[in-house]
Amino acid sequence: MKNSNYDIIIVGGAVMGSSVAFHLLTDEPKLKLAVVERDPAYTRASTALSLGGVRIQFSFKENIQISLYAQKCFATFEEEMAVNGVKPSIQFRQEGYLFLIEDSGRALAEEALTLQKSLGGEAEWWSAEEIKKRFPLFSADGFIGGTFGPKDGYLDPYGLLMGYRAKAVSLGAYYIADEVVELRKSGKTMSGVGLASGQILNSPIIVNAAGAWSAELARTAGVELPIIPIRREVFAVKPSVNLERPLPLTITPSGLYFRSETGGLILVGRSLEEDKVGFDFNWDWGRFQETLWPELVRIIPAFETLKLVRGWAGLYDQNLLDSNAFLGPWPELQGLYLINGFSGHGLQQSPAAGRYLAELILGRTPTLDLRCFSPQRILDHRPLQEGGIV
Ligand SMILES: Cc1cc2nc3c(=O)[nH]c(=O)nc-3n(C[C@H](O)[C@H](O)[C@H](O)COP(=O)(O)OP(=O)(O)OC[C@H]3O[C@@H](n4cnc5c(N)ncnc54)[C@H](O)[C@@H]3O)c2cc1C
Repeated sequence: MKNSNYDIIIVGGAVMGSSVAFHLLTDEPKLKLAVVERDPAYTRASTALSLGGVRIQFSFKENIQISLYAQKCFATFEEEMAVNGVKPSIQFRQEGYLFLIEDSGRALAEEALTLQKSLGGEAEWWSAEEIKKRFPLFSADGFIGGTFGPKDGYLDPYGLLMGYRAKAVSLGAYYIADEVVELRKSGKTMSGVGLASGQILNSPIIVNAAGAWSAELARTAGVELPIIPIRREVFAVKPSVNLERPLPLTITPSGLYFRSETGGLILVGRSLEEDKVGFDFNWDWGRFQETLWPELVRIIPAFETLKLVRGWAGLYDQNLLDSNAFLGPWPELQGLYLINGFSGHGLQQSPAAGRYLAELILGRTPTLDLRCFSPQRILDHRPLQEGGIV
């Protein structure tokens, strides 16, 4: 069987793999670059099953900087990613993100707000009365107020992925529809990948962009990553009341989140302790009815009457160390790079993460200093502290 030689091989061609591919080829157009993606329709990719939220409301400096960078990128993304005059559509809507705060969460919320503002982010404190004034359907009972990011919002995740992919292809990336079954190495140096079709692709540089499957993939090279697939369920409901304006992406202290969707729908979800570990894509309407709905009604009493229209399940590539990205070279193998472990906030990090990894691989000075996300912290058992994990 014929071998193929590449400068770089990316495993996984969803939002992370495609962002890396786009940034590599933008900086170095002559690269011979392969992206191996086994599911070109992206039916199970977390990217396509994501909620598409974008917020600067984090508590860790670099996460805030990443989102500020993302807000800028998304504002011009459709023009920048146009191919032969055809623009992708990401429908970036800056309807805001509202974190509802209880008294016990006040100090942390204020600290995060101060940090966000000091980095140039737009974020405001709203009293409970202010919340009710802006969104009369909300009952702010039990909350002392909330933090609101007016430039935060959401976008169409599939549109974002297609934008990166189409542009990467136009720049010369080879997307190969196959499955990588083995990361190949020679001693402590990467040498290529083995595919399910039996083909072997050679390259000294391999990027693991396999999302929730990244630990499985890394294991084929003897690398253990603290990442597991966890099923997260989302529900689309149609309330019986008309909303005067779209709801911001709202998050309660328990982690319940909801936002408006097109067609008068509201998307609702919550990460729960009992969420199933594994590659399971079933969803259970009973979870909405028994757990999420009562909590939703406490915040918006008018949602007592609504119709559950549909639901879906997608996977978090849950980072067990600290729920944040692993970004950079794997210290124990020359040529293996990680862009994994984003847990529930990877979509908005894809512009900065893809750019940073491409710059590292090409030996450029990084636009954003994201060294804190180095996979070295796995070996050092040094978790990052981020209070804004959902
Ligand atoms: C329900 C839900 C809600 C979310 N909400 C948000 C949100 O509001 N905001 C936000 O920023 N993030 C959110 N996320 C997280 C975000 O979706 C992910 O962090 C991000 O999409 C990860 O992208 P990825 O490219 O790393 O992984 P994926 O999109 O999962 O892509 C990995 C790809 O690798 C391919 N692959 C895997 N193994 C192999 C192999 N061996 N060979 C070939 N191909 C392989 C897969 O087919 C897949 O296409 C959410 C996630 C979920 C599940």
